Amino acid sequence: MKRAIATTTIPGDLGEKLRAAAAAGFDGVEIFENDLLYFDRQPREVAAMAADLGLEIVAWQPFRDFEALPAAERQKAFDRAEHKFDVMGELGAPLMLVCSNVSPHALDDPARAAADLAALAERGARRGIRIGYEALAWGRHVRDYTAAWSIVEQADHPGLGIVLDSFHIFARGNSLAGIATIPSARIAMVQLADAPDITMDLLQLSRHFRCFPGQGAYPVRDFVRALARQGYDGVISHEIFSDDFRSGTPQQVAVDGMRSMVWLEEAVDTPPRTSSRSARAPAPAPLVDGIEFIEFTADEDEAKWLAQALGSLGFRHTHRHRSKHVSLYRQGDVNLVVNCERGTFAQSYHERHGISVCAIGLATSDLARLSARTGRYLCPAFESRVAPGELRIPAVRGPDDGLLYLVERGPGTPRFFEVDFEPLDGAEQQGLGLTRIDHVSRAVAPSEFLSTILFYRSVLGFEVSAPTDIVDPHGMVLSRALTAAEGAIRFPLNTSHASQSITERFRARYAGSGVQHIALACDDILAVAPRLNPLHVLPVPANYYADLEARWGLDAELIESLERHHVLYDEREDGRYFQIYTRSINGLFFEIVQRDRYQGYGESNAAVRVAAQQREFEKLQAAVSVGTSESW
Ligand code: MG
Ligand code: MG
Repeated sequence: MKRAIATTTIPGDLGEKLRAAAAAGFDGVEIFENDLLYFDRQPREVAAMAADLGLEIVAWQPFRDFEALPAAERQKAFDRAEHKFDVMGELGAPLMLVCSNVSPHALDDPARAAADLAALAERGARRGIRIGYEALAWGRHVRDYTAAWSIVEQADHPGLGIVLDSFHIFARGNSLAGIATIPSARIAMVQLADAPDITMDLLQLSRHFRCFPGQGAYPVRDFVRALARQGYDGVISHEIFSDDFRSGTPQQVAVDGMRSMVWLEEAVDTPPRTSSRSARAPAPAPLVDGIEFIEFTADEDEAKWLAQALGSLGFRHTHRHRSKHVSLYRQGDVNLVVNCERGTFAQSYHERHGISVCAIGLATSDLARLSARTGRYLCPAFESRVAPGELRIPAVRGPDDGLLYLVERGPGTPRFFEVDFEPLDGAEQQGLGLTRIDHVSRAVAPSEFLSTILFYRSVLGFEVSAPTDIVDPHGMVLSRALTAAEGAIRFPLNTSHASQSITERFRARYAGSGVQHIALACDDILAVAPRLNPLHVLPVPANYYADLEARWGLDAELIESLERHHVLYDEREDGRYFQIYTRSINGLFFEIVQRDRYQGYGESNAAVRVAAQQREFEKLQAAVSVGTSESW
């Protein structure tokens, strides 16, 4: 298939759009009329620009309110079309997209619509232009692709085909079964868009909330599989109208579009997991299956605080890097690396963000397969400086400023700390009983949210949960969880449009998006809690525990223990969840969790936590104004 993108999908002016599409590797573009109208170059110059960039102009769009008009308006519509054909001629655009009529004057007359489209195709043919007819979900009389197809069939003109757009099909809940009745030669073009699973006016949904396949909730991979079964091999083009994309960068949106395209093409080669054939086949191994380490960047002083904070959570300084100023703290299966080495990525990250998580090491049992994917998905590779004999761990830039290391792990492969680190004497691990990293939560900008979801879903094979709203005293926060290897890796993502929400305040202080909290799992939180330094624990108000009693009917003794240690509790059909939060360091905090079968993240407690953090923040502001500072 030929990979294309509509210029409307990419932010910027037409020149920026074309350059970004070419740089991301698209074969062609659909020229959206307004992008041309707002641009200060002639259509012929645009044609030359596209040609210089190696981009084919695959279509011009949209031509609106054309077919089945009353006689008085019909001639005007044809005159309009001739004018657009002139522009298309200069552009060298071979295909005009005609959207189903939304005018209140349009007649409910499929035969008339067919005759008009046949006549338009005849006029186009004289100029070497084909016509594609597309059902808009809010069309006056033609809203479904099956209705559009029956008109195209009736028109029976070789220069006329149907345009299939996944948005209009799924927004109306249409079945894909009708695609099997359309010969591929009659499909003029295919357009792709996904959307979130929300109920709203379809026109508003389409104009503001479309997204790339892989970012929303529609089964667009099934759509692409249905087209492949028809043998369709023509142009397939992203057509997205999105407020979030408009505030992104042309380069990132175009790269995301290509990632979405590659992800869809993979689907054609892989049957859906629910089909009977694949149900018998073993599921493929996950691309990543654990978190090998989390790397902090800190200066010398901060590293001391961090060591103290980690020590109070039961971590021990077990290893020292052989050649760099880097320390390893371990407990259970958790490896936390603190990097103070100058002249490294960690240091430049520190200059931008202060003490923070600058990298995560993801474990994989098949590094070759994963590395091939990161190349295919246009992930920028990162080379770090290594001394002779040290591991060269491949890394890619994540969707935020940080790095993702890809660490091979399996029988016979030494762990990273066995090669690059030397053990410290007497650093026998004791710990508080924290066993593994439960989740790593990130704050991301609204304009990066969909891009981040697509990155983890497509490149690394993560699954994405439905969105949840978290009420912050100063604005709403939207949360979605990315998970891999059946929950062995969990990355909740939070985003907020509210400038004073905890999420946005974190981002303002951090100067960007990044890791906001790290949750560490234990088997018995009430055994861990008394061993924590109470000064480091985020206090939870007594009102919360009074309500807990009413909500869950827990016994008084348990509630008393939870309250004494500031443990939050949640219960759902799938199990129970206990959480303790620490106070923050540069906005970053830890969470200790006990997960009894429960698969969520304590969403119902998030508002309690955020309100408590807000109080801490206000206290800290007051303390700073009288010259004291944070406790750690
Ligand atoms: Mg469309
Ligand atoms: Mg959490």
